[in-house]
Parts: sequence; structure tokens; C-alpha cells
Amino acid sequence: MSDVRVRFAPSPTGALHIGGVRTALYNYLFAKQHGGAFVLRIEDTDRQRCIPGAEAYILEALEWLGLHPDEGPGSYGGGAGPYRQSERKESYRQHALQLVEQGKAYYAFDTPEQLDARREEARAAGDHAWKYDHSQRHRMRNSLSLGTAETARLLKEEAPYTIRLLVPEEEQIAFEDRIRGSVSFQGRELDDKVLLKADGMPTYHLANIVDDHLMGITHVIRGEEWLPSTAHHVLLYRAFGWEEEMPEFAHLPLILKPSGQGKLSKRDGRKLGIPVFPLRWEGDSPDDSFEGFREAGFDPRAVINFLAFLGWNPGTEQEIFSLEELVEAFSLEHIGKAGARFDYDKARWYNQQYLMHTPDAELAGMLRPLLREKGHEPQRDYLEAFAGLFKERAVLLGDFWTQGYYFFEPVASYDQKALRKRWKPDLQPMLEKLAGEIADAGAFDPQDVQAILQDFMEREGLKPGGLYPFLRLALSGSLKGPGLPEMISLMGREVVARRLREAPDQFNALLNPKDHG
Ligand code: GLU
Repeated sequence: MSDVRVRFAPSPTGALHIGGVRTALYNYLFAKQHGGAFVLRIEDTDRQRCIPGAEAYILEALEWLGLHPDEGPGSYGGGAGPYRQSERKESYRQHALQLVEQGKAYYAFDTPEQLDARREEARAAGDHAWKYDHSQRHRMRNSLSLGTAETARLLKEEAPYTIRLLVPEEEQIAFEDRIRGSVSFQGRELDDKVLLKADGMPTYHLANIVDDHLMGITHVIRGEEWLPSTAHHVLLYRAFGWEEEMPEFAHLPLILKPSGQGKLSKRDGRKLGIPVFPLRWEGDSPDDSFEGFREAGFDPRAVINFLAFLGWNPGTEQEIFSLEELVEAFSLEHIGKAGARFDYDKARWYNQQYLMHTPDAELAGMLRPLLREKGHEPQRDYLEAFAGLFKERAVLLGDFWTQGYYFFEPVASYDQKALRKRWKPDLQPMLEKLAGEIADAGAFDPQDVQAILQDFMEREGLKPGGLYPFLRLALSGSLKGPGLPEMISLMGREVVARRLREAPDQFNALLNPKDHG
């Protein structure tokens, strides 16, 4: 293994948004390309926001997509654990206290009420973006303004405190982002971020930096929304004396709504009826429950391929990439700065491509659970042939069922418009005659069926247009579908003969409901 180590660091606060999945994918690709490690770290220090089941959801989503972490919580293991921040609490506290001792951070005793009052006062004076920063810290209640003796007294009294970073206002913070280029901030623009909260838990900033350092992370690849925080992160690396080993940063572009206007949100998914999560999520309310790509009938390989292209492109015309090929082709330099539009039609196109190119036997394996859910346990050969017959037409896995259910159970409805236009009761004897011939037929491969139909039409003086639509309607209820000889051959003599005999009565009934009341 090389020394490249990247991490995916989700907070288990709900379902993992598709943007998070893309972050995981890019980290995975980067790690594998460099022969490095892909670490999963659960950032669960904000206990109020953590949701039971969210961590399990994250693991299940990563595994479904084939993004197996090299290190992580539970059975993933690894030498840099524990991989849940809630299990590393003491280390954060030690690190925060170390900074206080070195004069790089300080105790702040301001109560939430005092902070609110100060913010209110500022607002009244027209300042709506009050910050606890270099211009304010001397007038707040902290170890800098209160002095050593008072601070010692308060600590002895066990007065609640937070620890804040002492941001050096004269300092210039500049770093090279692998995607965005040179980025710089001024110390005087930044607030003195809380590092340790009054409940003893670290904030995201402290825990994230301490862990990235202790876990030997070499590259931080994450969403653009974290770019402003990076200024504080660089200051923290400096304060700890770790600047030499600071990871490289790469901030990924936003994922935009399908319209291209604004950031994709989970509400967009609901509004547009499209998945924006990898898997189904059952929240506390219907409002917080969503279908995922998996339930929508996506092949995980198609989801990976689609997500890879949300922000990255190989610089060539090639669009279909397996995970292994992506590992080869991926590079941070080919990630754009501009937001990437979440084009759901493109996701569907990818899925169609994957379904089309999946061998029939494999497809049959993917379809079996779906059919089992509907109460069918078809023979393997039958299912494989069925898969082959529909794979050029299906976009989502569920399309196999909606388009071809009649291969497993009786026709549920007939295309009435087509019937009204074409069906006449005096066509019934023709279908009955054909039913008899089919029931008695010998060899029954598609070519044989083709020959039987040909022969029948010749003898009866029929053209395909005078027979095929009725065959289709009788067998499947619709005028669409796979090739007729293939369809008839697979359904088998018995089912075909029965449907040809029984369907006409139904057609007549549908067209003349009164006569058949
Ligand atoms: N816990 C943060 C998140 O939920 C991690 C951000 C980062 O990668 O630094 O996205």
C-alpha cells in the first residue's frame, strides 16, 4: 500500500444524500488509483443530530455500490481506530486543553443567554452578522478578558465553559486546493470557532482535524460547502504544529437541481418524483421517507457510472466505465469547478445501457427477487429467456415486470382503444382455429412459430396486419412488446392456445358491456 490515505467522513444524521455518495466514490477512486486506503469515519459527535439507523444505512449504501472501505467501524477494522468519533472523545478534550495551555485557544464562559443578548444588541445597532471574533473577544466572558485568577476560580467552581480557537487576526491563510486553485482568507474575517462544547464534546472542526491527523489522512476530498471551514482547519493545523503534514484539499463542485438552478435538495426528489438517495429511507414521518435508486430499479454499476460523471469527465468521448476503469481513469484535475447538473434522464440512460449489456443469466438473478415478491418462482431457463427478450426495452429493473408481467400471470387489462379500432367478433373463429393448430404444434422454437404463422396466414388468406395485432392483444393485452414468434415460443403452446381461445370473449365483453352484463 502507498501512503495515500483518504477518508469519507459522514455524519449519521439521516439518509446519505446522493452528493455524499459521490464524495465517497471520488475518495474511493482516488485511494484505489494510488494503491492507498479508503477510510470510513463516522462523525457522530453532535449527539442531538444523530439518528439511529443512519450509520447502518451508510454502510449498506456503500456496500450496495461496491465501495468497500479498507478501514472503518465494526468489522472493517484497521490500525487507526476507533472509527466512530463518539468513541474518541477523550482525545479531543486533551487536544483542546493543549491548545489552551499554549495560548492558542481559550476558555469561554459566556452562557447561551449572554451570547444571545450580545447578538441582539448588535442587531439593534444594525449588525446582523455578529461574530465572536478578534474585535469582540475582549468584551466577552473568557479567560482572555477575565484574567488568570478569575478563570481559575470559575474552573474550580465548575462553571460551564467552551474552548474557542484564538484566531490570529493578522494572519493570512492561503492554500492550494486541487480543484479550485489558490484560496486565501484573512484572519480578521474569521470568528473564534468553538472547539470544545460545554458538554465536553468536540465540534466538527476540532474532531475532524485531530482525526485526520491521527489517522494519517493525506488528501481531504469533500463537498464545496466545507471550503470556508478550511480556513479554520489550516489554522488548527498550524496551532497544533502539524502544518508540515497537513493533507491536500480538494473541494468538489455542488450538485445542482435537474433544472440547473440551485443546489439539489431532498425536496427536489419528492417534487420531481426522482430518487436523490441511494436506498430507501424510512424516517419518522412520511415527509422524511424516501425511495432510493435501488428501489427505483437501478443497477448499482449504473449509479456509480452516473455519479462519476457528476463533476468529473475523462476528457474523452467514452461514457461507460466500470468501477475498475474509473479507478484507472479518474483524476482530480478533471473535476470541474462549476456545479454539476443532476440529470436524471442521464441516470436512466446509464441504467438502460447496463441492463442491455448484462448477460441473460445474470439478469435473471437480478429479476428473481422481484418476481418472488410478486409470488412467482419461474424455471431458470424460462426466466433467462424472458430477461433476454426484454433487456433491450427496459430502462429500470421494474420495467421488466410492468412490460412483461403477462409472462407470469394472466393478462390484467387490454388496450381498449386498439380493440375498438380493430376487433370484430367475427374474427373469433380465426383465433380459435389458430389456437387448435398451436396446441398441436411440434417443434416450437421462434423459427418454428414463424413458419406456423406463415403457413396459417397463407391458408387463411391473411396478411400479418390482419392477424398479428389480435395475437398481441390476446397474449399480452397490448400492441407493444417483443417479437411475436419469440414471445409465442417462450410462452409455450398451452398458454398461447388458452389465451387465443379465451381472449375473444373478453374483447367482446369490453366492447359491448351491456350484452354481457
Ligand atoms: N462530517 C462532515 C460531513 O458530514 C465531514 C466533512 C468533511 O469531509 O470534512 O460531511
